[in-house]
Amino acid sequence: SYDECYIKSVMRTIPDWPEPGIQFRDITPLFKDPKALRMIADSFIQRYIDSEITHIASIDARGFLIASIVAYQLNIPLVLVRKKGKLPGETVYEEYKLEYGTASVEMQIDAVTDGDKVLVFDDLIATGGTVLAACSLIKQLGGEVIEAAALIDLPDLQGSARIQDAGVPVHALMAYE
Ligand code: IMP
Repeated sequence: SYDECYIKSVMRTIPDWPEPGIQFRDITPLFKDPKALRMIADSFIQRYIDSEITHIASIDARGFLIASIVAYQLNIPLVLVRKKGKLPGETVYEEYKLEYGTASVEMQIDAVTDGDKVLVFDDLIATGGTVLAACSLIKQLGGEVIEAAALIDLPDLQGSARIQDAGVPVHALMAYE
């Protein structure tokens, strides 16, 4: 079963990356450790196996890695929220503010449709801007966001609070203060 101490012992923090003063939470060691990866995937699978969600919208790029395992096991569609410019065909996109400058995420217009009940999935919630932009795209396409899930929440940055204020419940496996 899920063991947060074990997961945190596998995780790694890289100081001053990608910029001085940032403590980057590096999840790549979790993928090198089958026991950790299995624990994490199983924990999300348990949470959503009997839920009403019909689709997982996973966020570029580390979100894809775990969401695809969960979608496979739940046997539900996996749709992609990508950085702008990566998806062919007709798309919608949403720009949002970063600390410096802007970013944007994009979805294909047929990724979700009216009545779909969507779980938004990313590796980590910092300011919440990425997840909120994804939620906005899903709503534009007619989907309903049931929950936003992530491995890690950084509660000091108040992103999960912003997402909850927007009416979307947040589920994170662990927090780093
Ligand atoms: P937000 O939009 O500020 O919530 O930032 C979240 C996005 O930035 C996610 O897609 C994360 O993958 C990425 N991110 C921000 N900080 C970190 C970190 O410390 N480790 C890994 N990813 C991060």
